[in-house]
Amino acid sequence: MPLSFRALRLGLFVFFILAGMLFTAGWAMHHAKRQAMIEDAGRASQQLGLYANSLHTLIDRYRALPAVLALDPELIKALSSPVDKPVQDALNHKLERINSTANSSTLELLDSTGLAVAASNWRLPSTYVGSNYAFRPYFKQTQSQGTGRFYAVGVTSGVPGYFLSSAVQGENQRFLGAMVVKLEFPELEREWRQGSDILLVSDARGIIFIANQDGWRYRELKPLSREDRAELAVTRQYDKQPLVPLQHQVLNRFGDNSHLTRVQGPEGSTEYLWESLPLEAEGWTLHLLRKPQVSNAGRNAALAAAAVWLSLVFALLFISQRLRLARLRQRSREELKQLVEERTRDLRTAQEGLVQSAKLAALGQMSAALAHEINQPLTTQRMQLATLRLLLDNQRYDEARQALEPLEQMLTRMAALTGHLKTFARNSPSGLRERLDLATVVDQALQLLETRIRAEQVEVALYLARPAWVRGDAIRLEQVLINLLRNALDAMAGKSYKRLEVRIELAADQWRLSVFDSGGGIPGEHLGNVFDPFFTTKPVGEGLGLGLAISYGIIHEAGGRLTVENQPGGACFAFTLPRDPEP
Ligand code: ADP
Repeated sequence: MPLSFRALRLGLFVFFILAGMLFTAGWAMHHAKRQAMIEDAGRASQQLGLYANSLHTLIDRYRALPAVLALDPELIKALSSPVDKPVQDALNHKLERINSTANSSTLELLDSTGLAVAASNWRLPSTYVGSNYAFRPYFKQTQSQGTGRFYAVGVTSGVPGYFLSSAVQGENQRFLGAMVVKLEFPELEREWRQGSDILLVSDARGIIFIANQDGWRYRELKPLSREDRAELAVTRQYDKQPLVPLQHQVLNRFGDNSHLTRVQGPEGSTEYLWESLPLEAEGWTLHLLRKPQVSNAGRNAALAAAAVWLSLVFALLFISQRLRLARLRQRSREELKQLVEERTRDLRTAQEGLVQSAKLAALGQMSAALAHEINQPLTTQRMQLATLRLLLDNQRYDEARQALEPLEQMLTRMAALTGHLKTFARNSPSGLRERLDLATVVDQALQLLETRIRAEQVEVALYLARPAWVRGDAIRLEQVLINLLRNALDAMAGKSYKRLEVRIELAADQWRLSVFDSGGGIPGEHLGNVFDPFFTTKPVGEGLGLGLAISYGIIHEAGGRLTVENQPGGACFAFTLPRDPEP
């Protein structure tokens, strides 16, 4: 693989890991933050409920006050006829007293035209007395429905407040005027100012009229319609207060009344968790704005997600590496197996080649002996044939027949010899496992070496259990025996006492064949090397050092083992082969 391609692949891989890590961390952080905000919003919503309760309680406390005062006979009587100065004074004092006892902001009494005839604040320059409030919606409501309520900025005092009113009725339910209580919320606002949250109350038009922090009041949460503006002008609800739109944009919504919002507020552009709670009874909405908490949750989640991502990537890498390694190992195992098979095949071919060349070498050695073996009978036969001719010429037939017998024997022997040589020279396929008698193999091997045995006057002792059936390749086993016998003869060459013992005996369901000679044995230091290829102690030209190595291989292939040990007087080579059961 070209280097640049590999570098590119590595770069892409690192990019993939980093991008994945950033993405997972970002996603986890976003999720954790959102979750934290939802939890925070839940808490804020609960608090909002508490704030709403405190507002309700405050208003409820004064709701009955105008209704109760409207029943006062003194007030009814006063409104029944035009109010003169002494009556007005008395009423002013009375209202002042009640107002201070009830702890309300202001109490005022309006006549049927909406004119304030008496008020608790009669002492102040900004007193309501003498002003007409017929244009205020609460007066109109009281006139038509008996009660009224309205939040407005006082046109006279400039102080905002909640006006609760009740009709003062004369005989036959005649509308005489309205008893009005004004509530201001400075304490409530002060109380709400304790926390860091921003608390706002907006009216049905979305105009904020109560706020616990400066700069939020008289802001429009939504654009006002033309009709709204016209009506505000008539009712003078917020009188001279300029209404400024409050820019806000929802970033994330958690529910109908819960969202994360960016607000262009008095403090500049800020993000708030914005919770709203409609106050059905008044037609208002209570809002709680809280700055989202900077928590570690997001960062921790991001770190955890990055760690999980990395572990996942590395786990996958590890697994894929293991799989690749296993695949490679499997492949190399298969390659190794194939290589071993190839080598084994090569070795077998080489071994077969060696066996063949060793045989040829043996053949070469043997041909000299054979020439001598065959030459001698041929000379004898030529002489005997001459004798035969003479006998026949003289018609001495009986003697002639007798003279034919040794001739025939000699020919049979020569035929056997050449037959052996033919089979010996033949290259037999490896792995042949024919059923054969070991004793016969010994016979044939001895027959091949008979001339030499006789010439060297070796005493041969045979202890052969027969038949000794085994499975193997007769030609190869014969080759092993010839090797063993020839080595034994070589070892005894210079000795005065020459004895060769060949045994076949049964040992634990195995046939054991041993060849013992009186050649003096193998020196201890050579004992471990005699089966090594090309190990020989014989002079150059006489030994190849292959005989025992090849024999060892042949016996091994036939399922046995060729061993050697020194015994008193000489060496003993032996091998065992599994017994082939009687057919
Ligand atoms: P080679 O006969 O060509 O030397 P072999 O592999 O047949 O090769 O034998 C290896 C060596 O083992 C011989 O050179 C000889 O030293 C030793 N050896 C084999 N048989 C005998 C034996 N019966 N007695 C003593 N030495 C032996």
